[in-house]
Amino acid sequence: MEIQVIGVQGLPLIQKGDDLPALICDRVAFEDGDILAIASSVYSKAAGFTRELASITPGADAVRIAAKTKEDPRFVQAVLDSSADILLEHPFILSELPSGHIGVRAGVDHSNVEDGRLIILPPDPMGAAVGVRDAVRRITGKDVRVLITDTCGRPFRRGQTGIAIGWAGMTAIDDYRGDTDLFGHVLEITEEAVVDEIAAFANFVMGESHQGVPAVVFRNCKTWNGHDSVYFTPQEDIIRAALKKNKKD
Ligand code: GDP
Ligand code: MN
Ligand code: MN
Repeated sequence: MEIQVIGVQGLPLIQKGDDLPALICDRVAFEDGDILAIASSVYSKAAGFTRELASITPGADAVRIAAKTKEDPRFVQAVLDSSADILLEHPFILSELPSGHIGVRAGVDHSNVEDGRLIILPPDPMGAAVGVRDAVRRITGKDVRVLITDTCGRPFRRGQTGIAIGWAGMTAIDDYRGDTDLFGHVLEITEEAVVDEIAAFANFVMGESHQGVPAVVFRNCKTWNGHDSVYFTPQEDIIRAALKKNKKD
């Protein structure tokens, strides 16, 4: 079956309190099994996960780091407030969020929002995806799968892509371990991060600036079996360990 990819057109500028699932359901005739990808920026705006720069008082760490990164100390404070652990302070802040996601500036955004306001990532992105999935089921009676995405940089390569920060109705990983390849070899390592693959293409459809397409629907995608342990444990994560060691030196 051909996979269909539908960018959701005609959504308004999202404000705090907007019923985002209802606004999307007004514009999409959902079918069971659809995958709905939503940009974290609009999820956060609707849920009120934004901050006024003017209301933020930077602490000593924020002032110290801001001098190195040449950013507004209040912006840096917002990044620190969103972070559970700082892995790198300079040339950009790289931090781990309470959800386990590691990202530049903790995903705090000042684009696609009014001047003087910041969008922060939903603090419970998995819960966010479950909430949207339940809302769509309530409104339409359809069983959809949901992804909350963000645009994120990658180590080793230039250029940002979409990644999944929350998901519901599917596992993050399609676990191929134990499956056989075309020649009968048993796969020992391959765990495919399916939610990130779909998020990346959703991000491609959304664009990054004024396109106004914060939601994308994928129809006729297969199902898969796997697990949700997408974040390395600190013991497994050799890159994280190297960054932490370097920060101490
Ligand atoms: P992020 O990747 O989650 O940080 O979100 P972006 O800021 O890159 O926006 C992704 C897409 O959503 C782009 O097409 C934006 O133009 C669009 N977008 C962002 N905010 C809104 C909004 O309030 N309303 C609408 N209709 N589109 C928005
Ligand atoms: Mn973002
Ligand atoms: Mn984006």
